[in-house]
Parts: sequence; C-alpha cells; structure tokens
Amino acid sequence: MFIKSNLPYEKNALEPYISEETMSFHYDKHLQAYFDKLNLLVKDTEFENKDLVFIIQNSNWWIFNNAWQAWNHEFFWKCMTPNPKKTPDWEISKLIDRDFWSFENFKEKFIDFWVNNFGSGWTWLVLDTNWKLEILNYSNAWNPLDTNKKILLWVDVWEHAYYIDRRNDRKSYLNNFFEVINWDFVNKNLLK
Ligand code: MN
Repeated sequence: MFIKSNLPYEKNALEPYISEETMSFHYDKHLQAYFDKLNLLVKDTEFENKDLVFIIQNSNWWIFNNAWQAWNHEFFWKCMTPNPKKTPDWEISKLIDRDFWSFENFKEKFIDFWVNNFGSGWTWLVLDTNWKLEILNYSNAWNPLDTNKKILLWVDVWEHAYYIDRRNDRKSYLNNFFEVINWDFVNKNLLK
C-alpha cells in the first residue's frame, strides 16, 4: 500500500506566498486522491508491492498517471521551504549564469514557460545530457524521469496548486513560488 510522506513543514509555513488553505486542499485532498486511486488500481496486481518508479515504467495509462502524480508531489513539496536562501547555491548558480546569463533572466524564462504550459501539467528544470540547463513543459502527470536528464526543480501547474490563492493569475503564483524555492534541494539534485 502506498502512503504519502509527511509534509517537510507545517501547512501554514509557506505563508504569505502559499496559503495554508491551498496546502490543505493540495496535500490532504488532491494528493490523497491520487494515492487512494493508485492503491485501488494496483490491488491484487503485479504492481502491488513495487515502487513508484517501477510502476511508472511498466504499468498502463491509468495506473501510471496516478503513480506519476504521487511521485511528482512527493518531491514537489521539497522544492519549497519556509527558510529559503535569497540566491541559489554556488554550483547551480554558476550554471544558471552560464546558461541563462543571470538569475533574473532565468526567473523570467522559467515563469514565461510555465505561464505558457497549456492546460494542466508540470514545468521542469533539468540538466540535459550535455550538462546544459533546460526548461521543459510536460502535460498532465508526465515527467522527464524516463529520459537521461537530471531533474533539478519542478513546479505544479495544475489549477489546484494556485486557484484558491491566485484565481486565474498563474504568473503571480509562480512569482510567489520563486520566493520559497529550496535551493539546497535543487543543488543536491544537481550534485547527485
Ligand atoms: Mn498538484
């Protein structure tokens, strides 16, 4: 049986950028629904005791959509922190400067990609196989786990992630997201 991890902080810890109400709905209701559905779908199948990545790589559409959403959210919470650094850590900061000229330019690009991710999905910062940073838009639950790209940072573009706080204003949600990015986590992903 799959059980979601605890949040790495209190639900109100990201205020005023992400509200407690948004976190409650997102973590308690939306994420729980993916786990409940996943557990229902894998019951008495070959996937029952496998891990999420195995399920993602080997199961059918309905099962892997839920497994993927479970995986995406488990790590999405870690992309944010109540005690963010003002600027990225040294290694990731070097790459951002090299590939995007400046942090401000990177932020603008990332937000622009995200605003233009049509429908529901996730936006990813990855390191491609040539060690270059790349921003990717994926629809629905899809993620770049099945590529050789290293996943560094990602953000939930489903409306449930921001509609309570920001209504239809995706851009201001992402501006807020930038205020709470966990650069320690991003840097750790880079050095892995
Ligand atoms: Mn979500």
